[in-house]
Amino acid sequence: MLFTHRGLSGPAVLQVSSYWREAEPISLDLLPDVADAAPLLRAAKRARPRAEPRTALAEYLPQRLAGALAERHLPPRVMAEIADRDLARLGALLKAWRPVPSGTEGYAKAEVTAGGVDTAALSQRTMAARDVPGLFVIGEAVDVTGWLGGYNFQWAWSSGWVAGEAV
Ligand SMILES: Cc1cc2nc3c(=O)[nH]c(=O)nc-3n(C[C@H](O)[C@H](O)[C@H](O)COP(=O)(O)OP(=O)(O)OC[C@H]3O[C@@H](n4cnc5c(N)ncnc54)[C@H](O)[C@@H]3O)c2cc1C
Repeated sequence: MLFTHRGLSGPAVLQVSSYWREAEPISLDLLPDVADAAPLLRAAKRARPRAEPRTALAEYLPQRLAGALAERHLPPRVMAEIADRDLARLGALLKAWRPVPSGTEGYAKAEVTAGGVDTAALSQRTMAARDVPGLFVIGEAVDVTGWLGGYNFQWAWSSGWVAGEAV
């Protein structure tokens, strides 16, 4: 996941955007390798009691993200003076940050589209339309959406190939 000047991006966010519906929050785990973030933050408090929260958090998160989260979600004190319940609250947020996206970059920037012609209307062997002789539908035009990682290219090429062979 990337924080860009326009908002969230990167493969993880592009992937969830296929499922996201307007006004819904998305849930992001900012510490996927850790089962529970609260004990981690309490350990950081014990290990570095004089450290500023932003410095302690930067052990686990990119520096500027650590700074932004510390500023918004912790009091402006050194780690030793921050209550465990505040650390627990931040820990929960790190495991399930739930921002509500204000929107996507839309069709012009989309890498793949959801929706399209219903697969039930097509032959799965030739991509020919069942009800319209001579019409074939392939790739993005069909209601098939691949995960990131080349599956959309593969689908476009494979469906195009079988349709071409049938023609
Ligand atoms: C920026 C970007 C990055 C992507 N990265 C990946 C990736 O890493 N991996 C992956 O799997 N997929 C990726 N995709 C998705 C993938 O490119 C598409 O799913 C795939 O190219 C769709 O193939 P298609 O043949 O169905 O449609 P298209 O490739 O869109 O082909 C449709 C063609 O029809 C032409 N056309 C349109 N209207 C007319 C007309 N009236 N007359 C004649 N010709 C017309 C268009 O010019 C175009 O050449 C990416 C897409 C984008 C935009």
